Amino acid sequence: RAKSLGKARHAVFDKDMHTRAVSLLQLENDLRRAVERQELLIYYQPIVSLHNNRIRGFEALLRWNHPTRGLISPEEFIPVAEETGLIIPIGYWVLHQACHQTRIWQEQFTAIPPLTINVNCSGKQFAQSDLTKQIDRILHETGLNGVSLNIEITESILIENADLAAKMLLQLKNLGIQLYVDDFGTGYSSLSYLHNFSIDALKIDRSFIKRMGSTNQKYELVYTITQMAHNLNMNVVAEGIETSEQLRQLQDMRCEYGQGFLFSQPLQQEAATALIQSSVCV
Ligand code: C2E
Ligand code: MG
Ligand code: MG
Ligand code: MG
Repeated sequence: RAKSLGKARHAVFDKDMHTRAVSLLQLENDLRRAVERQELLIYYQPIVSLHNNRIRGFEALLRWNHPTRGLISPEEFIPVAEETGLIIPIGYWVLHQACHQTRIWQEQFTAIPPLTINVNCSGKQFAQSDLTKQIDRILHETGLNGVSLNIEITESILIENADLAAKMLLQLKNLGIQLYVDDFGTGYSSLSYLHNFSIDALKIDRSFIKRMGSTNQKYELVYTITQMAHNLNMNVVAEGIETSEQLRQLQDMRCEYGQGFLFSQPLQQEAATALIQSSVCV
């Protein structure tokens, strides 16, 4: 009895694995065509200055409007894009679109300081030897000044290939681009080595912000990270601010920027434009 149960379990497991492999393959095939079929789109989430509650810029967040499955989260398809190398063309597409849109906003809204744009960069993209050349080309094509572009990378990119990363960061800096470390706190979280890389800002992962109000320990951690970042001349962005209590605490710490549902969800381009419009008028 036990044996047959074991067998059945095994079979279920295999079938499950098979189903998953097939759907992964399907996803991969679909993703290949997604760019040309214009199924990819960019949402924009405001990054707000906590000093005056004004929109400083946006983070570009990729979405896939799949023909049968609907909107697919980047958490699901970015790993597939990485694995297949599709992240390279997709990444350049995101950069181009986001820079282009930001330039349009800058020309449209001249009464406010030029809006900035944060673009996520994956490890594979970062390992491309011509990344800087391509970004330079995109900046020229879109007319966006490099100082308006912020590139987000994770700590693991810096750790895993420190020499290459240092070289890339210097090249990007020469274009005026600012470098942000994304999801800070979830990885190695060593502030001392970040100093060696001339990082401009840290984005504290939203898991820390989320538990800030409820447990003192997280509050202390966010406070300590913020202080140390400031001592190292880095700005701090708090991710995932959802309550006004969290906002108040972060303002008390002199955290420079914030992002989260309290201000706005990621928005489609038209809605983002409307948000800027309404913030300019008040
Ligand atoms: P991320 O770069 O850390 O982006 C922040 C994520 O937090 C976004 O998820 C955003 O929608 C979500 N978020 C923002 N505020 C709140 C909040 O108040 N509460 C909660 N619960 N969530 C909030 P999203 O858009 O699903 O993106 C997930 C991840 O996918 C991103 O994390 C990033 O690592 C990756 N990603 C997105 N777009 C791109 C892209 O163009 N290229 C690459 N390489 N990765 C991307
Ligand atoms: Mg990010
Ligand atoms: Mg993040
Ligand atoms: Mg993330």
